[in-house]
Amino acid sequence: MNVLKFGGTSVGSAKNINNVITILDNYAKDDAVICVVSAVGGITDKLLKAGELAQEKDENYSSEFDTIAQKHHSILSELIPTGNEKIVAHLTETLQELKHLLDGIFLINELSPKTSDKLLSFGELLSSFIIAETMKKRGMDCLRKNSQELIVTNSNFTKGEVVFDSTNTNITNYFSKATQRITILPGFISKSTSGEQTTLGRGGSDFTAAIVASALKVNQLEVWTDVSGMFTANPKLVKQAIPIKKLSYQEAMELSHFGAKVLYAPTVQPALDAEIPILIKNTLKPNDEGTLISTSGEENGLAVKGISHISNISLITLQGSGMVGIPGFSKRLFETLANEKINIILITQASSEHSICLGIDENNVDAAKLAVDSTFEYEISLHKIDPIIIENDLSIVALVGDNMKNHQGISGKMFRSLGKNNINIRAIAQGASERNISAVIANKDVKKALNTLHESFFEVKTKRLNVFITGVGNVGEKLIDQIQQQHSFLKKKLKIDVKIVGMANSRKMVFNEDGIDLDNWAAQFHYADKSSLRGFFDKVIALNLRNSIFVDITADEAVANLYDEYLRQSIAVVACNKIACASSYKNYINLKRLSLKYNAPFLFETNVGAGLPIINTLNNLVASGDKVTSIEAVLSGSLNFVFNNFSNKNNFHDTVKRAQFEGYTEPDPRIDLSGIDVARKLLILARENGMVMEIEDIENNSFLTKDNLESNSVDDFYDTLSASEAHFQNLYASAKKNNCQLKYVAELKKGKAKVGLKEIPKGHPFYNLEGKDNIVMFHTERYPEQPLIVKGAGAGADVTASGLFADIIRIGNN
Ligand code: ADP
Ligand code: ASP
Ligand code: MG
Repeated sequence: MNVLKFGGTSVGSAKNINNVITILDNYAKDDAVICVVSAVGGITDKLLKAGELAQEKDENYSSEFDTIAQKHHSILSELIPTGNEKIVAHLTETLQELKHLLDGIFLINELSPKTSDKLLSFGELLSSFIIAETMKKRGMDCLRKNSQELIVTNSNFTKGEVVFDSTNTNITNYFSKATQRITILPGFISKSTSGEQTTLGRGGSDFTAAIVASALKVNQLEVWTDVSGMFTANPKLVKQAIPIKKLSYQEAMELSHFGAKVLYAPTVQPALDAEIPILIKNTLKPNDEGTLISTSGEENGLAVKGISHISNISLITLQGSGMVGIPGFSKRLFETLANEKINIILITQASSEHSICLGIDENNVDAAKLAVDSTFEYEISLHKIDPIIIENDLSIVALVGDNMKNHQGISGKMFRSLGKNNINIRAIAQGASERNISAVIANKDVKKALNTLHESFFEVKTKRLNVFITGVGNVGEKLIDQIQQQHSFLKKKLKIDVKIVGMANSRKMVFNEDGIDLDNWAAQFHYADKSSLRGFFDKVIALNLRNSIFVDITADEAVANLYDEYLRQSIAVVACNKIACASSYKNYINLKRLSLKYNAPFLFETNVGAGLPIINTLNNLVASGDKVTSIEAVLSGSLNFVFNNFSNKNNFHDTVKRAQFEGYTEPDPRIDLSGIDVARKLLILARENGMVMEIEDIENNSFLTKDNLESNSVDDFYDTLSASEAHFQNLYASAKKNNCQLKYVAELKKGKAKVGLKEIPKGHPFYNLEGKDNIVMFHTERYPEQPLIVKGAGAGADVTASGLFADIIRIGNN
């Protein structure tokens, strides 16, 4: 005898029912088959909705009914297109009964649990009827038996408790005489000992099948659903989840109790008692292996087998000094909740006995508060304990696995991963069996928590980085190209999966949680939302993804002012914008502190020398205990370009114009020529070298004239440059006479920092610096004579993008 159960999606359309029939037909070749079916997918919810509307005197219950009726008629006529008059008549009659019931609920506006069970029973009665009639019509040896005549419960409506003695007798008696090859049984529905219609609880068709399978002691129970087994996490929330091949009964029970809806939790117990393995299979992909649940869950020694979650729970906390050392408080608390039929999902108690904290379904919270406060009224009035405290909008995430007890450090890893991603843990519980470790977190963090834990425990090998880019201009485009080009290399070699999830320019912003398609990212801006800094921030926060990285490619102070908020949300910041690091020391050091506190890297290698590894080199020197005695550098590609091209033949004005035209200067060339940009870079290096310094502490020996410096606009500035040509020619002539090159040099020596134009003699490492190159010389205790030199292109979109990219990868490797 085979027992197979098919869920709502499996019987949700004529096409899927045809799949089911094919499967049954195959099984029936070998042995008799019992097939338990759910209601057509979504119908139980619709029945409930119609009932609730009717109860609320909302006439829309009628259109809800019409949808239900229409759905069944259309499935039936697709399955049996002709010669179906009698079957259609019976269907219409049953639907008419349903309509009467709904009209009744409307009239008395009452939907008691008892009526609700009667109402919901229609779902399985209708589906089983249609399926059985179709099979008969196709000549199969098939009969429908109403499970209400087999399964007996107490009168606990909406979730009847099975009376196993009479149920088992009914089932064995019936099937010992049954002669049909295939029996269709409606799942979920039952009758009470006094003959009223009851149900086994939402999702209860799985349970029906387990009850029948264990009564008949069959070899295996098969649960056919819309996914290929019990997954490592809910596949709807965690894309990378994979089916678990083998589970023990206990593991399956823990996972389903903690929210893995694919198997209704009570299903496991009867199977376990009768030692019947449960195989979960996918009706839509019948060749997939599925999950086998049996006494042995052994499979490749993984400690954590799955992660599940329950949303919408509340925590209630009973606390007070009066509880310490006095027995009986917990007993009274549990008794009170039991009397209210409130199920306790999780318990934690501080070892001080000063408080006890319980997780319950949030729908029960009002009843719980009322009952508990009344039980402890006397102690509350004496201030021995406090009125119970309630916290809502919470979820439980649980790691499950038989072998967790043999592995150290699992809870440590769990809490570390959650903490790293800024997921606050409200309470924790670990079963004494150590088969389950649960954490209570905010509802809003569930998806992130599941993905984070899944990555930590099942995908140790790849780490997903979620990148958000603000300022998609020249450099941004290059960065996107580089990320796209390197994506598979990084995934393969470094096990880093870089996804750009959000990007914005000054006008528009685009997001895609699964990663923006980089093949045609630019086109997506056409349909995108208007961008705003706050809107971008809000969206990043709302997406709440693990390993989020905010990349700032603007030169905008308002963007820099948001780093504080990003870091506080444990979102890493990568910036080529140097405003933040060159602002007040207080701000700089605050960002560094936040980065440490919230475990969110703050990297800005491209602030100095674009892609050149200058800051990273300095950081490594300092971290490894070397002492930097001096830094000398040429840090302005623009000034380098200007002084490499300016001569007695090319006047200064035109040279600067050309530098601007070729993109070597800021839009306002005064920022470069005044030396302020170089001063900012030196400031950042000094700070990274551990010095407390402000921009005012840097001596800026400008080579510009007073008129140049006091110009009020860019145009005005250019005019003053022409007027000062003689001054610039003098600088040139003097250098020429001394056989020197003019370079704008930044120096940090003996705690003093200065920038200014210098005549560099032949033979000096700076003398031959070409084009827009930068150079930095570190003299340190370990490099006393020959300095450590970093040299190369210090500006340009390509190299800046690769510097940003290197920072992103550094975060991934972290
Ligand atoms: P059926 O109607 O076949 O009984 P259900 O909807 O009750 O199907 O259960 C299947 C669904 O359970 C899946 O579609 C999936 O969304 C959900 N689910 C939640 N957690 C898990 C998990 N760990 N593994 C597989 N499915 C899960
Ligand atoms: N139809 C019922 C429900 O949706 C039972 C089931 O599908 O298992 O809850
Ligand atoms: Mg189900």
